[in-house]
Amino acid sequence: MIAKKSLGQNFLKDEKVLNFIANSFEVTSKDLLIEIGPGMGALTKYLVKKPAFLLCYEIDKRMEKFLNVYKSPRTFLIYDDFLKRNFKKDFPYHYQNVYVIANIPYYITTPIVEHILNQEVVDGMTLLVQKEVALRFCASSKTKDYGYFTVFLQHFFQIEYLFDVPSTSFEPSPKVTSAVVRFTKKENIYPLDFLKFQTFLKQAFHMKRKTLKNNLKGYDLQILSDFYRENGFSDSLRAEELCYDDFVKLFLKF
Ligand code: SAM
Repeated sequence: MIAKKSLGQNFLKDEKVLNFIANSFEVTSKDLLIEIGPGMGALTKYLVKKPAFLLCYEIDKRMEKFLNVYKSPRTFLIYDDFLKRNFKKDFPYHYQNVYVIANIPYYITTPIVEHILNQEVVDGMTLLVQKEVALRFCASSKTKDYGYFTVFLQHFFQIEYLFDVPSTSFEPSPKVTSAVVRFTKKENIYPLDFLKFQTFLKQAFHMKRKTLKNNLKGYDLQILSDFYRENGFSDSLRAEELCYDDFVKLFLKF
């Protein structure tokens, strides 16, 4: 099998890591696991041993001959672009909890995570991603890795950086180190319009070197000034200095 670079094909060969990822959530026979990009089935072979149902999306039809052996009344395989699927429609039944467990193609990491979040059904995810991206997912405010996506993810999940995976654990080896990140859905998610919240966050972080006030020009600046005064912030405040709770507090004022 010649790996297609254009599809982000780096196959994981470290059995310990595969086993760990597959077992990163306790699941029951009422749950559903979703694997994006099963490739030749390195992770799938562990996931089919779990009591949950399994739904896999693979874009590369060449993988059929490796994956079809896993087809069963509990395992569904869809050969299509994950980003084009509405996975609520693909769910054959109703499930108690839904988890995404995957070594995802790095070239579309952000679109994949956004696509998952927009469908609002996932209770947890364990993803193997590029280390640089993992650091962004888990960043704290006032650090260089902190940005719109960090805050947006924190709206839904507790995020844990679990461990690094060296490039030698893959075939072919990618140029970068990878890392495993686990996302667990928060018990109490603020009841706010998350599409509007997403737009607000994108705007707040729009120009990293500009002040928050400059980035939020389209919003009511009097409300912003009141927020600064009430919380002891100066006019030179930048988005990266605000933590998730501050962003929610400010958003709810507009
Ligand atoms: N899970 C396998 C493993 O760990 O060895 C393969 C992981 S490889 C990093 C990413 C996989 O995602 C490849 O099999 C690739 O064909 C598939 N893929 C790439 N783009 C995709 C897309 N848009 N939708 C579904 N699968 C995709």
